[in-house]
Amino acid sequence: MPTPFPQRQPGPSIWTSRAKPKPNTLNSDWRCTRCDKLLGVCRDGRMHLRFAGGHEYLVGFPVQATCRGCQTLNQAAGPRVR
Ligand SMILES: [Zn+2]
Repeated sequence: MPTPFPQRQPGPSIWTSRAKPKPNTLNSDWRCTRCDKLLGVCRDGRMHLRFAGGHEYLVGFPVQATCRGCQTLNQAAGPRVR
């Protein structure tokens, strides 16, 4: 008996595949300083933010964002966070 709901894998996402380090990546994760939740990804000198509902933002530095997990206000002054 086939399963009525075939499991569909969503497209490859940088937000869920955290165990795949790319060797020559220019992207760097921007994580919450408190709970380490992923807030955005720095790419090409800008911060790529994604929010629930499919809204995506590409913003320049400095950037501030509130963590959805712990409500901590995080700030990134430049592409190199750490
Ligand atoms: Zn947090």
